[in-house]
Amino acid sequence: MVAKNSYLPVVALDGPVGVGKSTVAMSLAHRLDFYYLDTGAMYRAFALKCLKERVSLAALNDSRHQLFRDTIINIVYTSKGFCITLDGEDVTSQIRMPEVSAYSSKVSSYKSVRDYLISQQRRIGRTQPSVVEGRDIGTVVFPDAFLKVYLDAEFSERVRRRYIQYQQCEIDIPKEKLEESIRVRDKEDLSRPFGALRKAEDAYYVDSTSLNADQVINEILKLYEKRKCLVSV
Ligand code: C5P
Repeated sequence: MVAKNSYLPVVALDGPVGVGKSTVAMSLAHRLDFYYLDTGAMYRAFALKCLKERVSLAALNDSRHQLFRDTIINIVYTSKGFCITLDGEDVTSQIRMPEVSAYSSKVSSYKSVRDYLISQQRRIGRTQPSVVEGRDIGTVVFPDAFLKVYLDAEFSERVRRRYIQYQQCEIDIPKEKLEESIRVRDKEDLSRPFGALRKAEDAYYVDSTSLNADQVINEILKLYEKRKCLVSV
């Protein structure tokens, strides 16, 4: 039996690059009337700041670095969707550039960066029911999440989905280069000493290789209802 009220109203959605987490998480949040938190966007914004300020990776070993005091990352909701601001500037498109993607996987391996962003993520998720997507949400950020889902797909399918996404954003990148960059990011995400990507023991595993976004969302909504029944027993 699952104890009543022992879980935060958080749906944790973890999984590798290009699996379609954002599309699914955003739509789930809408359907459940929950807040949507894209933690990857926060790592991306932080990476962008490092690139802009030319902060070396080595400098991130120091958790007292000025960067951890004067970086303001906000997620702003508008009638058209949401945008990410970095120190007041709208960086929603910039953080999706391939070089920022690559750098975000590097900066996210630093404990100082993770501690800094995780405390902000917890503050947001604890104040409202939320769908939170990332790599370590079910394992580290919200280990008591109400529902944990690990979303996966075969490598070739993830590359295909990410390629289409880039095309939609008019970002030109050869497929082989994209494939290699996803391989590198997978390796970095899986092998970092803190917050490495892995399925939480109590997470449901959903293989989306042959499912479309609606099918994945419906599958997760069913799991959500199942959890509600278990919690109310
Ligand atoms: O999900 P997205 O690809 O936007 O995330 C960008 C990068 O941020 C990932 O490659 C990953 O290294 C890092 N990340 C992380 N922990 C999270 C979310 C993202 O380390 N919770």
